[in-house]
Order: sequence, then C-alpha cells, then structure tokens
Amino acid sequence: MNTSNQNLPPAGPDNNFADRVRLNQQKLTSELKPHYDFIVCGSGSSGSVVARRLAENPSMQVLLLEAGGHDDLPSITDALQWASNIRTERDWSFQTRPNPHLNGRTDSIAAGKVLGGGSSINALAWARGHRSDWDYFAAEAGDSDWNWRSVLNLYRELEDWQGTPDPDYRGTGGLLYVKQEIGTGPIIPAMFEATRSVGIPTFDSINGRMMEGPGGCSLTEFRTRNHQRLSAFRTYTFPYMDRPNLTVLSSAFVTRLIFEGKRVSAVEFVRGDKVHRLNVGVEVVLSLGAINTPKLLMQSGIGDETELGRFGIPVVEHLPGVGRNFQDHVALPPIVWEFQGDQPEAVFHWFWKTEGDTPNLQTTQAPILSGIRRMNPNLPASGWLMLPALIRTKSQGRIHVTGTDPLDPPDIEANLLAHPDDVKALGDAMEICRDIGNSAALRPFLKQEVSPGKIKRSAMEMFIRDNAMSWWHQSGTAKMGRDALSVVDSKLKVYGIRNLRIADASIMPRVVSGNTMAPCIIIGERAASACGAGKQA
Ligand SMILES: Cc1cc2nc3c(=O)[nH]c(=O)nc-3n(C[C@H](O)[C@H](O)[C@H](O)COP(=O)(O)OP(=O)(O)OC[C@H]3O[C@@H](n4cnc5c(N)ncnc54)[C@H](O)[C@@H]3O)c2cc1C
Repeated sequence: MNTSNQNLPPAGPDNNFADRVRLNQQKLTSELKPHYDFIVCGSGSSGSVVARRLAENPSMQVLLLEAGGHDDLPSITDALQWASNIRTERDWSFQTRPNPHLNGRTDSIAAGKVLGGGSSINALAWARGHRSDWDYFAAEAGDSDWNWRSVLNLYRELEDWQGTPDPDYRGTGGLLYVKQEIGTGPIIPAMFEATRSVGIPTFDSINGRMMEGPGGCSLTEFRTRNHQRLSAFRTYTFPYMDRPNLTVLSSAFVTRLIFEGKRVSAVEFVRGDKVHRLNVGVEVVLSLGAINTPKLLMQSGIGDETELGRFGIPVVEHLPGVGRNFQDHVALPPIVWEFQGDQPEAVFHWFWKTEGDTPNLQTTQAPILSGIRRMNPNLPASGWLMLPALIRTKSQGRIHVTGTDPLDPPDIEANLLAHPDDVKALGDAMEICRDIGNSAALRPFLKQEVSPGKIKRSAMEMFIRDNAMSWWHQSGTAKMGRDALSVVDSKLKVYGIRNLRIADASIMPRVVSGNTMAPCIIIGERAASACGAGKQA
C-alpha cells in the first residue's frame, strides 16, 4: 500500500496531469472491455479508496462506475460552498416515508451523486469515530483488525496531520491532509471557556486522546487546503486516472448484479440510453452508500426472501439483514446567534455524554457562510450556528424496495426518534448548546440568540418531533457481523456469495459516534486489503 502523497500531480500552471487524465479516460471509456478483473460500483468516500488501491496493481483491470457526473465545479472545489450542492442534481435527495415519531413528517436525506459521492458535497469535517465504536466493530466481526488500536495505526499511516505533532495519535506525510481551521482573535479562548463552563473539557484535537474518553471540545479538523476541497475521489482515485488499468465511468447508473449460481458474473448499468453488461473476473465491490447498496442487493436477489417475494424477485441468497439496522444521526435545526461586529472564522466541535461513558451528543459550530444563507435568507449577515445532534441513537429503521425497476425509489423507513430516550437526549443537546452560546464567556461576542430561544420543558418534545432531521450519516443496512442479521463477514464479503464485497457506510454494525466520512475511508482501505490490494503491487 502506498500511503505517501508523492504521487499527487504537481500543482501549478505547468501541470498537464489533468490533460493526460482526460485523454486516457476518453480512450478507456470509448473502448470499454467486455471483462474487468474488479468492478467497483460507486465512487464515494469508500469506493474511491477501493478503486485506487486495486488499481495500484498494474496487472489488474479496474472499472469504477458512478451514477453522478463530474466534480470539477466551483460549488464542489470551493469547500465553503458545500451546502449549495444540496437539492441539486449532485444530491440524491432521498425522501423518507412519513414518520409518526416526527409527527408524520417525511424527512429528506442528502447524499452525494457525483464523482466522490458524499466526500464531494459534504462539509469535510474529519472525525475518526470513537474508540468504543471500533472496539464494538471488532467484537461484532470477531476480528481484531477492526479494533481501535488497529484502526488508530491505520489512521496514523494515512494522515498528513498539520497540527501540533502527536506521534502516538497522529500521522504525518500520509495521503490525507488534515488541518484544524484556526480561527483568530479572543473568541477562541472564550469558546473553550464557554464549553468548560458546562463541564466539557478542552483538548488539542478532536482526533487524539479525546476519541478515547467521555468527550471534549476542540477546533474542527477538515480535509481542505486553502478552502479547496480534498475529496476522497480527488485524493485517491484521480491521481491514478492516467493509468491504463483504471477506467472511471461517470453517469453510469448500476441497475443489477447478474449471477451464475452464487457468483456475480456481470454488472448491468445504464449510461445515456444504453444498457451495458460487463463481466467480472475476480470481484465486484458495492460502494453505493447505505441506501442504494441494500436497494441494489435486494433488486438483484439478495435479501429477505419474504421481502423479495412481495415483488416476485428470484432469491439468489436469503439474507434477512439486508436493509435492516438503518441508523442515522439526528439533529435539530441550528441554533442561531447574531454577532457583535465581524464574524470570526473559528469552528469547533464538541462531543459529550449524558449517559454511559462515551459521547452520545455532538455539536458542530460554524459561522454562517453564504452557501448556508442561500438556503435560509433570514439568517443574520454576521452570525453563528450550533447544530445539536444525537450520535448514539437507539432508534433503528429499515430500507425496503418498492418494485423491481431500478428507477423505483427506495422506501426509507428511517424511524428517527422511535425510541423515547433519543428524544430526551436531543433535548439535552439543545440545552447544552444554548447554555454554551449564552454563557458569560461568549456574551461580549454574541449580540443575541436569534432562534429558537428558550423552549419550555413541556413544549420541548413537540418542538423536537416537529423539527428533528437526518444529519446525513445513514449507515448500517448491510452490517458486518456474525449473527443471523449480518450481511458481510469481517472481510466485508457478502455471506453466501463467492465474489461480492461491500465497502461503504452500510457495513457499520452501528453508526459511529461522530461524522462518518473518515470511518468510510477506513472501511474502503480494509475492503481493498481484503480484495488483495497491495499484495502484488
Ligand atoms: C451534505 C452532507 C454533509 C456531510 N458532512 C460531513 C462532514 O463534514 N464530515 C463527515 O465525516 N461526513 C459528512 N457527511 C457524511 C459523509 O459524506 C458520508 O457518510 C460518506 O460520504 C458516506 O460514504 P459512502 O462511501 O458510504 O457513500 P457515498 O459517499 O454516499 O458514496 C456512494 C456513491 O455511490 C454512487 N451511487 C449510488 N447509487 C448508485 C448506482 N445505482 N449506480 C452508480 N453509482 C451509484 C453515489 O452517487 C455516490 O457517489 C455529510 C454528508 C452530506 C450529504
């Protein structure tokens, strides 16, 4: 495995790498082969990693299929514009079924539909997941490769950490540039004083020791460089796209897996008005995200036989866990404060616990950027947001299919807030945020809380059920494990099928306690190693 960043194309006006990529990909995509060694479906946070790692072996022909289009757009490359991609053609804009626990509302779930998937439209916050998450993954999988110690070593190998050196926890010189957004001015110490005033300690980094204990607060870390997005696709896949063994086909909507017995023989996809079927020699890797991966599995005959039987889908493998165990983080609309004077750039994250010994709540705080104001023009010109979120949820949902046509939308039974403890915890998150924002330490900087203001305890449950929403961290719908509802084993291989692996947020046995992109990169790395990537390179 090559973890250094030396293979990135040189930056600067004399860089002709992009031209080489364009010409090479024009040639490869106009002469598609009838057969590839590996077909990776989906170029998101995990799929981009898998495609790159497999292509490191020049003797393997790798095809990466992506339903979305190109990523070379200002709304993607300029990381500050991330929110302006939501509800555009670059977002699947999934709609859930009406949820009785949200007072009958449907909710919309954003997910990237573009080269890079979520990593091309997300806010790029870098959070590794808590020690307890990874140890839980290892226990469920029965494989120490997934435990915190092992994953921490991989993070250290992959990272190019720009902050204060901390060799026990952080790596430097790796592929993944990670930087804290350093704000300026007296607001920074005031922010930390404010969180300490509600009992949340301060750390140097959210991704060091803080991820091993009950939580804390630090400046947010991002995958950006001078506000330019560093997506998984641009970091991993793009630098290999001038090679003859990696074909990247965008606008290619994967519609079905074709089987010969228990082996995937081909992948069917639609591009323009043409249906293609390309054969696979070694393996297919599904990285379509936690909604489309179970949908494609079920429509191809892998799932609960009763569910498949409702639509007359012939059963290839009865795996009752496909689509179950849907989990997501749940957030409330941001609490908004108006600023006194200029808006600072400082951005922080806090994680904290109101039960158990690991964080169950998280907040992302951010200045109101123009992209966010475009979504809500009523926000103040100079202001601050804090998004209260629940990250250790007890509610679970399920993805169903609604028919056999690949264009039939998934039926998303998200079930957010089905468990009463989740409602209470979300209320706690909101109160902690309000206490921080309205604290004495921040009073000199913040003019006033604009919304929502104090909500009486008696009205809180109604407020939460009327306003709670997906935080776009959908996971768990093809979980890794060893029980009857597990879909993949510890090597991410689909049970009962000879040559099919899953690498995306679907495989999480439970949603991690923190943002999900970094863990999806780890999942991609683990899947690629299991496919044998790096062995013959
Ligand atoms: C608006 C937003 C903001 C977020 N902010 C953050 C953040 O700041 N930090 C963080 O850690 N996480 C964040 N996330 C979450 C994070 O981006 C996702 O959890 C992560 O990208 C999931 O990775 P994945 O590999 O499972 O799927 P994805 O990254 O969603 O990739 C799936 C890919 O498969 C493609 N695909 C799907 N179906 C098909 C098909 N049938 N045929 C072909 N291709 C298909 C999709 O178009 C997509 O490119 C955010 C997400 C969103 C939507």
